[in-house]
Amino acid sequence: MTLVAANDVFQQSRFRNGLLDALKQPDAELLGSVAERVSLARGHVLFEPGDSVTVVHFPCGPTIAALIVTMENGDAVETATIGREGAIGGIVSQGHLPAFARGVVQVAGPAIRIETARLQDLKSRSVAVRNLFARYADCLLAQILQSVACNALHPMEGRCARWLLSLHDRIGADDLPVTQQTLAEMLGVQRTYLSRVLGALSRRGLVRAGRGTIQVLSREGLERASCECYAAVRLHYEGVLGGIYPTIPAEAEAEAGR
Ligand SMILES: [Zn+2]
Repeated sequence: MTLVAANDVFQQSRFRNGLLDALKQPDAELLGSVAERVSLARGHVLFEPGDSVTVVHFPCGPTIAALIVTMENGDAVETATIGREGAIGGIVSQGHLPAFARGVVQVAGPAIRIETARLQDLKSRSVAVRNLFARYADCLLAQILQSVACNALHPMEGRCARWLLSLHDRIGADDLPVTQQTLAEMLGVQRTYLSRVLGALSRRGLVRAGRGTIQVLSREGLERASCECYAAVRLHYEGVLGGIYPTIPAEAEAEAGR
């Protein structure tokens, strides 16, 4: 882990994060001067419930973290997926408050980390920074609210397609480096059940489940198979924080050709 002075922290291609990219000078420079670049390993626990959250992580590139709620019997389910469009830790809260959920890295990769106190300090001085993070907190809450409804009402195949699409957006490639075990844990189901669901999606030519990866074969098909929750969350994000949600390569190509 290296402390990097100066605002070139955010400019390296591996260390791009939509929220940080949206900062304008001099806020970007101030935040850059106190940011650290780190590499996060899969399974790394950023915080446990009850921990005082002293650091905010901004996933970069393909890195994905998740907020997971665990039950007394050990069952767990993911409540939010956070990639290069967002940040994890101390975002909704103000300052050093205990974490409610577990923050864990689902897909390894680079990230930028900033001490919560430093971010709070900048928020108190800059309306633009305060506004940006308040808007992001709204998007994160929308994702969690939608997940509550989704988990209660929607069949597993649609939910599975939804999660695969949200990973596809953030990773920006067709090979999703997630094991079936991880995906089962995200969805809060048994691995055998998840295998049957993936089998059904495979037979329709939408995905190919390999060893340690799930390959997206048809993005369009997955969008048709997904429940409405994927589009609802994405639409809200684009409305509240336009231009920050990752554009998948196929969409970028289509836009370039327009
Ligand atoms: Zn749903």
